[in-house]
Amino acid sequence: MTAAALIVAAGRGSRAGCEGRAPKQYTNVRGMPVLRYSLDTFLAHPGIDRIAVVIHPNDVALYAETVAPFSDRLMTPVLGGATRQESVLLGLQALTAASPSHVLIHDAARPFIDPETISRVLDGLEHDAGVIAAEPVTDTLKRADGGGMITGTVQREGLWRAQTPQGFHFEAILDAHRKAAETGQSTFTDDAALAEWAGLKVSVVRGSSLNLKITSAEDFAIAEKLAAAPSVFEPRTGTGFDVHRFIAGDHVWLCGIRIDHDATLEGHSDADAPLHALTDAILGALGEGDIGQHFPPNDPKWKGARSRLFVEDAAHRVRARGGRISNVDITILCERPKIGPHRAAMQRAIAEMLGIDTSRIGIKATTTEQLGFTGRGEGLAAMASATVLLPA
Ligand code: MG
Repeated sequence: MTAAALIVAAGRGSRAGCEGRAPKQYTNVRGMPVLRYSLDTFLAHPGIDRIAVVIHPNDVALYAETVAPFSDRLMTPVLGGATRQESVLLGLQALTAASPSHVLIHDAARPFIDPETISRVLDGLEHDAGVIAAEPVTDTLKRADGGGMITGTVQREGLWRAQTPQGFHFEAILDAHRKAAETGQSTFTDDAALAEWAGLKVSVVRGSSLNLKITSAEDFAIAEKLAAAPSVFEPRTGTGFDVHRFIAGDHVWLCGIRIDHDATLEGHSDADAPLHALTDAILGALGEGDIGQHFPPNDPKWKGARSRLFVEDAAHRVRARGGRISNVDITILCERPKIGPHRAAMQRAIAEMLGIDTSRIGIKATTTEQLGFTGRGEGLAAMASATVLLPA
């Protein structure tokens, strides 16, 4: 699966009472523009491969200023159309060159999208053509006439409030949007409604009650409170250590990078000792055991496995606890191969596994002055530390 995120930020936000001021997606909540919140979350999510944002043609400068810290990780912004539906179609068309297998369409006005909801939508797309985040209706629903008189109570069983992201098979939703545009269908209130009209099977997964859509001035007041809440994080630090023996071979895997070498490392998996140490460091910070407990070396399932799976699992455990990885640091102990030429590629590989920026990843190497088993070239050792921020 290659998944793109399409963030729709082309609205004018007149309903939020923002006339004459910056549109709501560029309005600050706790000192940060609304758009930045959801972008941060999508950028950090390991299941999202690329991100395009649809913006209003008048907002080019505002947008550039908002995303300046990480603009290199976003596609060129797409200029939106007169309606949300047109803007989404333009965004999808801009993504065709990248040909993702799936796309998650998300409204920038929902800043508090959480990684778990994104994961649930992605997981659902393994078996359904469309999957949307939604919350079951818990309030009793009344129908009232124009004068405010109740005329009935609506059964709430089976009713859900649709949120975003709404995920789809890319080609299917692009076709559906094109068909809707060609036939002049323009009254859909979300992409799922358009997909349903086109005959796609769309399912719901749990969203989050915090995944608020900012529409009114009151919503901004709520958003200020919500943004304040998760700022209390507690740092947890873990360490890891691992050793693998050199045997006859022609390459090694280190930090997820294949390096040609005149020996290989012996192991049940790909024997990537730095990634094993890193996995243990993250698990250690969480207090959730060690790599051998989660991926027993005698389990044939992990024979020849890429060690990035172990790291990704550990990173997933951090997100499942509502936390994030602040930084990791790895030291590789060996005489050979030389690590320096591969450092940047290693940082990029680990950044992708953990869903964090390369500036948060340290890769260092040292020889042991030809002393001990590493010095004699009998094996390679690796140490790692990880600092994880968990909700206090
Ligand atoms: Mg190991």
